[in-house]
Amino acid sequence: MKQSFGQLQDGTAVSRYCLRNEQGVTVSLLDLGAVIHEIIVPDRTGQLADITLGFATAQGYAESTTYFGAVIGRCANRIKDGAFELAGQPYQLAKNNGANHLHGGLFGFDKRLWTVDSLTADSIEFSLISVDGDQGYPGTLFVSVCYRLDNNNQLSIEYRATTDQETLVNLTQHAYFNLSGQLGSTVLDHQVQIFADHYTPIDASLIPTGAIAPLAGSLLDLTQATLLADVIDKPDEQLLLAGGYDHNYVLNSAGDLTQPAAIVRHRASGRVLTLYTDQPGMQFYSGNFLNGNALGKSAIAYPKRSGLCLETQRFPDAPNQPDFPSVTLRTGETWHSTTVFRFSVED
Ligand code: BGC
Repeated sequence: MKQSFGQLQDGTAVSRYCLRNEQGVTVSLLDLGAVIHEIIVPDRTGQLADITLGFATAQGYAESTTYFGAVIGRCANRIKDGAFELAGQPYQLAKNNGANHLHGGLFGFDKRLWTVDSLTADSIEFSLISVDGDQGYPGTLFVSVCYRLDNNNQLSIEYRATTDQETLVNLTQHAYFNLSGQLGSTVLDHQVQIFADHYTPIDASLIPTGAIAPLAGSLLDLTQATLLADVIDKPDEQLLLAGGYDHNYVLNSAGDLTQPAAIVRHRASGRVLTLYTDQPGMQFYSGNFLNGNALGKSAIAYPKRSGLCLETQRFPDAPNQPDFPSVTLRTGETWHSTTVFRFSVED
């Protein structure tokens, strides 16, 4: 199903597409940013609600730096000083987060109009071409992302990318979840469980120090289901640096798509989100930088921590960290990755 979603200031028309399954779950997507605009799922009593943050207008997305629901590229997360070397050549990327490069730069994939390549009853595939030099990245990159909603309430996201010159790629999805369905409330009443024994500690500008550190004994250890309200404001050096959780977890599932990487539970509604991915890392971001300035769907001014993100990825600043998995893509290779969000309920 295709609908108009208005237009951008320059007149570009934006469209919205809806996938609906036999369980009554609806996922709506935009060609702007390949954004997930709405995810409507039942609670334990069957009550349907939208559980993802977003804007009511195309212009809302164009003006914002919250990355609500968008596909992020070419490189998710931060690259220190926006600088890296590839094949002996230095490159300078756009700086859009202090001195650093964040989520693909000033005009990242979240701000692009994607082409719809195929639309079926249960899936939609978007693509875009990022030209040589885009935001400072070398090579022309051909990217596609396919969203598929099945009847087990699983939303799978499959990314592919190829290049005509050696470059960097690290794609992710930046949906903010609030399983309560009350998008003006905080997620402090959510329980988060992340199956990771290690993480990549950060410095004051949220750039990884380069270490891969054990989580045991720290407040960042979420291997047991943990109510965010119980931990997020405790005095901890790493939590204080980010104003909450904004850290890359090194997933124990280590690329195994059949092992859960994380589970988020909202006990009051019974809604549960289980995440699977073939990526080695996941940024757990607790929406610390939301501040009520983003006026969203239904005129909700999203307060601090009103949504949480589970951004599957290779590790931040990988091009400058020799011990992190590489984000280099060469000609002739296809970058391929899958992440699955499964929605369920429990008593
Ligand atoms: C980052 C945050 C950043 C946010 C922007 C997250 O992925 O980890 O540090 O502020 O995106 O919305």
